[in-house]
Amino acid sequence: MSKKQFKAESKRLLDMMINSIYSQKEIFLRELISNSSDAIDKIYYKALTDDSLTFEKDSYYIKVEANKENRTLTITDTGIGMTQEELENNLGTIAKSGSLAFKTENEAKDGHDIIGQFGVGFYSAFMVADVVTVITKALNSDTAYKWESHGAAGYTIEPFEKESVGTEITLKIKESTEEENYDEYLDEYRLKSIIRKYSDFIRYPIKMDVTESRPKEGSENEFESYQEEQTINSMVPIWRKNKNELTTEDYEAFYQEKHYGFDKPLKHIHISVDGTVRYNAILYIPENIPFDYYSKEYEKGLELYSNGVLIMNKCADLLPDYYSFVKGLVDSEDLSLNISREMLQHDRQLKLIAKNIKNKITNQLKTLLKDEREKYETFFNAFGRQLKYGVYSDFGANKDVLKDLLMFYSSKEQKMVTLAEYISRMPEDQTYIYYASGETNDRIEKMPQTELVLDKGYEILYFTDEVDEFAIKMLMSYEDKEFKSVSSGDLGIESDDKQADSDNEAAENKELFTYMKDVLAGKVKDVRISKRLKTHPVCLSTEGDVTIEMEKILKAMPNNQHVKADKILEINTNHEVFQSLKAAFENDKEKADLYTNLLYNQALLIEGLPIEDPVEFTTNMCKVMV
Ligand code: ADP
Repeated sequence: MSKKQFKAESKRLLDMMINSIYSQKEIFLRELISNSSDAIDKIYYKALTDDSLTFEKDSYYIKVEANKENRTLTITDTGIGMTQEELENNLGTIAKSGSLAFKTENEAKDGHDIIGQFGVGFYSAFMVADVVTVITKALNSDTAYKWESHGAAGYTIEPFEKESVGTEITLKIKESTEEENYDEYLDEYRLKSIIRKYSDFIRYPIKMDVTESRPKEGSENEFESYQEEQTINSMVPIWRKNKNELTTEDYEAFYQEKHYGFDKPLKHIHISVDGTVRYNAILYIPENIPFDYYSKEYEKGLELYSNGVLIMNKCADLLPDYYSFVKGLVDSEDLSLNISREMLQHDRQLKLIAKNIKNKITNQLKTLLKDEREKYETFFNAFGRQLKYGVYSDFGANKDVLKDLLMFYSSKEQKMVTLAEYISRMPEDQTYIYYASGETNDRIEKMPQTELVLDKGYEILYFTDEVDEFAIKMLMSYEDKEFKSVSSGDLGIESDDKQADSDNEAAENKELFTYMKDVLAGKVKDVRISKRLKTHPVCLSTEGDVTIEMEKILKAMPNNQHVKADKILEINTNHEVFQSLKAAFENDKEKADLYTNLLYNQALLIEGLPIEDPVEFTTNMCKVMV
């Protein structure tokens, strides 16, 4: 028998466990019982759908036994057990390596507290034990195995004797120290209360031998104690309980028990429907983004139970993509147990449930926005982008559901606002909903294109997410008001006499602009007098559907189609620079070329676009300076 090393990551987590100063070490029991319950679920489900397996109801249970003399705590289950390979893979390594990265990163920030806030699985046993021994026999297997580990040093696996299928985990409880009392994990009352606190709803009986006392036979005031096996948990799943009986803490505890996230849920939704389709559901809106949320690895879905039996871990069909952040479970009596994944997709009941759930989530979010603005903003910070994808995807099929849930940063309010709020503040003479796109709010604030709109006293929405403009293009309008980029060629603001003025000016400078257009051939579509600039000499605007921000995003995409925005170089004729440009045009064409290129490059820089030839640009700058 040779000693094996833990995988590097597992070792790190183990070290964290062993050295944790976390006070709620008691959660190790929740973790082990939850694993046992999962293992029984697996065998129970197999038995229900496989006729060759027959089981009696009483044969599913978890037993917790403490032995004070030996300082051992044993958790036995009649679950599916593990093969040698499973032992190796499940207990020698940690499956969710990404989550470990997340955990350790956060731990560094927050100290050790984080450990207790989420599930850490099997390894949490090492918070209270020096030695952990697992004896297990898998279903349909002849051999049983013993896995043993003294902590970070490694583990051993050897064949072992065990009659029945299932798993028995024995913890050698640590000696108490001055700071830490470990004896309590051998104490009957304490163990009972931990089980009730975290594992009450587990579907299978959690049994313990409990000491009771009774009057001694033939005596009235003498008592004797005796041992009796009792079931400690009520076994009613939380989702079957009455909402009024449950507290926010209960829901939070369940969220953690289920490992739905590392955070506390921002909001829970408890649904009991007794209509054409009957189901119970507990849904959660998380507070934080899961570390892999905006990656391909993230899988949406709810746990699906049929009458209390887990039939699917992640049923994706229950959630639309735009609510993929929702966690939780659905239990329905109306689903058949041996339903296959494929059948599920076409299941009418499931579709009804999914639709119903979608509406409940929408309503919950609307209520949150109305009644708990701050919480909603926290939510939107985390998952708003997903809602915007939702507006954009499926050719806008869901935009009506989502449009009132959107928020954008407002130039006027200097905070996030909804579209309805924007509309409610619009002056009567304002035709469009104005927006500006850029990398950050700070950068947008400094964009020359915003000057005229702001001068008019109009509010501008800042678009800093890549998806924003695409989503808004899909939305097209809100309450009949169209959206307009502050960089678009026509802002719809100019008054008629001003228009006439600038028309005159344009005629006067026609020759210069045509000349500049030639110098910048292939780069800009036109050179024009700007109606929007106040203090800046130049800016770029666009014509047509593609804006500069969209060009940037499309350019970054893997299947870059070389889509370009039709750019207009706008010149502020009231700026001093314009006079120099004019003079150069009349007297020194070489200088006029130089100025035109410099101005164009400045406009690119302001837009956050790369300068085509930085060396030439700096050479040109030098020329002007000498
Ligand atoms: P998680 O439960 O989050 O997957 P754990 O570290 O708690 O992570 O457990 C790892 C795996 O070990 C489980 O997914 C399961 O496959 C297996 N396992 C743990 N405990 C048991 C048990 N009592 N019976 C059968 N398998 C178990």
